[in-house]
Formats: sequence, C-alpha cells, structure tokens
Amino acid sequence: MTGAAPTLFLSDLHLPPQTSALRTRFRRFLDGPARKAARVYILGDLFEAWIGDDVGMQIYAAEVAALAALSASGVKVYFQHGNRDFLVGEAFFDLTGVERLADPCVIDVSGRNTLLSHGDIFCTDDRPYQRWRWFSRQRWAQWLFMRLPLSRRQKIASELRSGSDTAKRNKPENIMDVNARAVRLSMAQFGVTQLIHGHTHRPGTYAVDLPIGPAHRIVLPDWRDPVCDYLSAHQQGIERLPA
Ligand code: MN
Repeated sequence: MTGAAPTLFLSDLHLPPQTSALRTRFRRFLDGPARKAARVYILGDLFEAWIGDDVGMQIYAAEVAALAALSASGVKVYFQHGNRDFLVGEAFFDLTGVERLADPCVIDVSGRNTLLSHGDIFCTDDRPYQRWRWFSRQRWAQWLFMRLPLSRRQKIASELRSGSDTAKRNKPENIMDVNARAVRLSMAQFGVTQLIHGHTHRPGTYAVDLPIGPAHRIVLPDWRDPVCDYLSAHQQGIERLPA
C-alpha cells in the first residue's frame, strides 16, 4: 500500500488483568503497525477491567508504557471509554499522551465525516443497561466509588462483571444489538453517512437507511485469540487487518 499514513481503528480487545496472548499481540501492534499510522483510534473496552487509574496503571503497566512510547514517536492516539473501562482517567491520559475522545464524536476519515462511538449508547432496547450506564457515568458515583477501599472496589467490580455475564446469557440476542432507530437518529443529528463503533462483537458493514441517502455502519471486530484484527483507513478505503 502506498500513499499517506493510514488511520487505524480498534476496540473490544478486552485485555485481561493476567498475562495473556491478547496483551502480547496488542503490545506488538503498538510497536509495529501502529508506528506507521498517522492516528490510532481505540474505541473502548481496551481493558476488561479498570477499577481506577491507581490499580489499572499497575496491572497494565506494560501497555501503558507501550502507548506512551507510541505517542512519543509522533502518532496521535485517541481513546473513547467503553463499558468495561469507563474509569480510565486523567492519570492514564497524562502519562500516555493519549487523547480522550467524547462519545460520540465526528472525525474526518479519508475525506468523509464519520461518527465514532463505543456503541453501547445505541443499544437502547436494553433498558436496565442504559440505566446502569447513566448511573455509572455520574461524576459523584465515580467519586464515591474511588473513595472505597481497594478490596471493596475489586469485589463490586467482580460482582458487576458476573452479573452482566448472567444478564447477557438471559437476554434475547436482538436486545444486545444496536437499535436501528437510535443509529439513524444519531447519524442524522450529526449529519454523517458513516458510523464506526464496537461493543456488539458483530463485526461487519451494515447498511443504514437515511433520508439524505445511502449510509452505513461499520462494526469493529472484537479480539479473541487467535483473531485480533483492526481496521485501517486510507485513501483507497477501509480494510481489515490482523494485528
Ligand atoms: Mn462494550
């Protein structure tokens, strides 16, 4: 491939706190293909669990260092919070040089206005989840959580994770996918014909019917060893590549 440096997109790596092949792959990606990119967009759920910068930056010290090295090399790195790592905070951004992105936000991808989101905001059929999302993003709720003893934070986080896994198993499949109307509304509101998001673990390109014309939604691939893929956008289009 020739021409300008590409823009890379990835999400839903769900890197576990323990040693794992996924973590090695991610660090190799940061030291390899990411170095040749102009910009790297991480659209949430990079980390499977992040109960505060104090603990997270110790557990994921190697990834934090690799992100800092990538930023220092001149590549712009952006991060949008996912539902697993929404507590990634200022200390992380300060140390890594990664820039925090609002969810959703509009950027230019190869000359096309594109809406970026982790994607959970579009899952409006899941009402209990949306209530939890609202609560967990409140500053006061996060402030209180961060003042609990570490053991208590760990216990709450692990209970929430197992509760969410059980809930997921018992919910009909379509409830955990995006709501088509929520997607159309958001794309119309931002005046875009392209949306890139993660979260649903249903990678692919899906047509969206907008009054202004044909539009589409690109869902990023989640990482499950050995398939660890990202998207690379350049002048010729967007391609899926292995990390
Ligand atoms: Mn998610």
